[in-house]
Amino acid sequence: MHMLSAPRPSGSRPIATFDLTGRCPLRCAHCYFYAAPVPGPDLDEASFLSRLRSVRDAYGIRSAFWVGGEPLVRLNLLRRAMALFPRNAVATSGTLPIPADLGAGLLVSIDGPRQFHDALRGPGAFDRVIRHVAVLPPRSFALSTVLTSSTVDAVEALPGLVAETGAIGVLAGFHVGPPGDPLRLDGALRDDALARLHRVITEHPGVVLNPIASLEFFRARPAIDEMPCIYRDRAIAFDVQLAPKQPCTFGPRADCAACGCPVMALHAARGADQGASEELLRTLFPRREVLDA
Ligand code: SF4
Ligand code: SF4
Repeated sequence: MHMLSAPRPSGSRPIATFDLTGRCPLRCAHCYFYAAPVPGPDLDEASFLSRLRSVRDAYGIRSAFWVGGEPLVRLNLLRRAMALFPRNAVATSGTLPIPADLGAGLLVSIDGPRQFHDALRGPGAFDRVIRHVAVLPPRSFALSTVLTSSTVDAVEALPGLVAETGAIGVLAGFHVGPPGDPLRLDGALRDDALARLHRVITEHPGVVLNPIASLEFFRARPAIDEMPCIYRDRAIAFDVQLAPKQPCTFGPRADCAACGCPVMALHAARGADQGASEELLRTLFPRREVLDA
């Protein structure tokens, strides 16, 4: 398996992903988080915030991406933690009610119509997420979809889901799993999925948020040393104990040679697409005043 080398222990890393909690109401079939042992219990709020300030200042972190587990399980801590950063984005499964006033970019996971979504995430998951996004203001969130061998046939349904939910669009990525993972789309299967995404982009402009140039990073198979990944020198991931996580938020099962992370691809494509990736990153990580320096 191909993995980027560990990040340096210090130095500027303006972008960070944080596992806010080890808890989540779901157990999705493609979950990277529970595929590895959770490194310990959740820290209490005071300890988490104190360590968070330390790592923020040590690495110069400006953009924070809150994942998990399910970050909305610890909503009070999430709000206090986000107050430390000028840019935040939250990834949620939509299993719990979603506050409309988070002041962050919001990525809500929907992997296709009910039968596709529930096949990955469990019975009832689709109806819950639809119920919870229905009360959000239109165009105040984006959908996030993970293409796997069991959801790839939902690609053509993405425009309908965006219209039904009122999302600004859908950000697509590919499941990042180890070699041999049956949910992974590799080789010709991945190229076919990309061709289908390109057709959706052509026939439904604006629905798929990934700029074309960024999608190409899902196709390319550069030597691992040439992978233009932000976790080489600009980003760092932290586990629930706020210890650095290797090589990135996907943890030890990540296979960098088959990366499908849309945020990595967006950063890699900056400069190659007339600012489209940069603009989308600004939408997903909106700037706001730091409320708690
Ligand atoms: S919602 Fe996310 S953290 Fe929870 S089980 Fe699913 S993939 Fe894992
Ligand atoms: S984002 Fe992709 S390329 Fe970068 S470390 Fe993670 S799996 Fe590897």
